[in-house]
Amino acid sequence: MLGVTLSQLLGQDEVSAFLKGVVRGGRFANAYLFHGPAGVGKCTAAFAFARAMLCERVAGEAPAAPDLFAAAAPRGKAGRAAPEAAETRDDACGACAACGRSALLNHPDLRFLFPVSGEEKELDTTIPETLEALRADPLYVFQYPKAASIRLSLTRELLRELAYKPFESGRRVVVVRDADRMREDQYSALLKSIEEPGASTVWILTTARLARLPATIRSRCQRVRFAPLPEPLVCEFLMKRADVPEREARMLAALGSGSLARALALRDAEPAPLELRNQALALLEPALRGDPSSLWKAAQGFARFGRGGRESLRLMIEFHQLWLRDLLRARYGDPAREDLVHRDREAEIRKLAADVDAGEIRRRLLVLEEVLRAVEGNVAPDVALFSGLSRVAGARLGEGEWPRAATARWDY
Ligand SMILES: [Zn+2]
Repeated sequence: MLGVTLSQLLGQDEVSAFLKGVVRGGRFANAYLFHGPAGVGKCTAAFAFARAMLCERVAGEAPAAPDLFAAAAPRGKAGRAAPEAAETRDDACGACAACGRSALLNHPDLRFLFPVSGEEKELDTTIPETLEALRADPLYVFQYPKAASIRLSLTRELLRELAYKPFESGRRVVVVRDADRMREDQYSALLKSIEEPGASTVWILTTARLARLPATIRSRCQRVRFAPLPEPLVCEFLMKRADVPEREARMLAALGSGSLARALALRDAEPAPLELRNQALALLEPALRGDPSSLWKAAQGFARFGRGGRESLRLMIEFHQLWLRDLLRARYGDPAREDLVHRDREAEIRKLAADVDAGEIRRRLLVLEEVLRAVEGNVAPDVALFSGLSRVAGARLGEGEWPRAATARWDY
C-alpha cells in the first residue's frame, strides 16, 4: 500500500491519468474525496498522490546535495540536475529524499488518520503497531475485527498541528482512511480546516460508503471515483504478488468480486473462503422457511467468532449482498456463468431470480447494508445476523414468532 506511485496503481487507469494531470497542473484543491468499492486501491492511490505532491522534483525543488540516483539525468548549465522531462513531473520520482521518506510514511508533512479499535489508553501501542505492520507488509489489508473509529483526540492533535507551517514541503498532505468513521463534531472541525482560505494543507479522504459522509463534506471535496477491479487483474496479482496458486487465485478473485482487499482477506479467513460462503448462505434457509428458532440457533454459532471477529461476519454479510447482486444480474441481465460471483450455484440463482423483482432485491440490500453498519458498531454478532436475515426473509417471519431469547437481547 505504501511506496507506490501514480503510474503503478493497479487497474485504475482513469484515476491515475486524472491525478497525474492534477500534479502536472500544480494546482490542488483543498480536499479530495476518493470513493468507490472497498479494497480497490483508494488508500494506495491517496498515498501515491500525496507522494507526488511532496516529491522534490515535482515541486521543482531540486535537491541541493548531489543525488546518487540522478547521476544519469541530463545536466543543466549550472551543473544541477536539469528539470526532468515533462512526463516525469506528474508523479513521484521515487528517488529523492522526500520520496524515500514518504514511501515509509516518515515524511513530516504527510499525516495519516485511520480508524482504530480498542481503548483510548492503548492508542500509544495500537497506532505504532498498525503503522509498523503497514510498512512491513506491502499487501497489508486494513481490517477492523472490533468496532473502530477515527479518534477525536487524534483529529484534535492534528488540527492543532495544521496551524503551523509545513516542515519541509510547501504543503502538508493529510490522508484520512475510511473518513465515514468519524463523529459529527469531527466533521465540523474538518470542514473548518478544509474551507480555510490559503490553507497549506491538502486533505485526501477515502471512503467506501459515500452516503455516510455529511453532505457538507461531500460538497466541499473534489470527488474521484474508483471502479471495481477486473477479476483477471485481481487473479494475476494474487498469483504474482501474493504467491497464491492459480486455482485458489481464481476462486478468491471471483469471491472477491472486484476487490483485492476482500480477496486477500478471504485468503486468510477462518473458516476457508468457500466454507465461510456456504455457512453464510445456509443461514438464509431457516429464515426463508419461516423458522426463527433454527435461525436463532444457527446465528448463535457466530456469536463468538474466533480470530477474525467482526471481519468474518462482514465477509458473510457481503456474501449475501453478492448473492442478491447475482440474482439481479440473472433476472435482468444475460450473464454468462463467470459473470456470477456464486457461479458454482448458477442453477439455483437462475431459478430463484425468476421469482424476485428489483424492488424486493433493493429492499433486501438495504437491510443488509444496515446489518453491516451494526456489525461495524457494537451490536452483538448473533443479534445482528438474526435480525438482519429474518428481515431479509421478509414477512414470512413475524415478530411475534421470535424466540424469547432473541427478543430479550434487544431489551438493553
Ligand atoms: Zn521524488
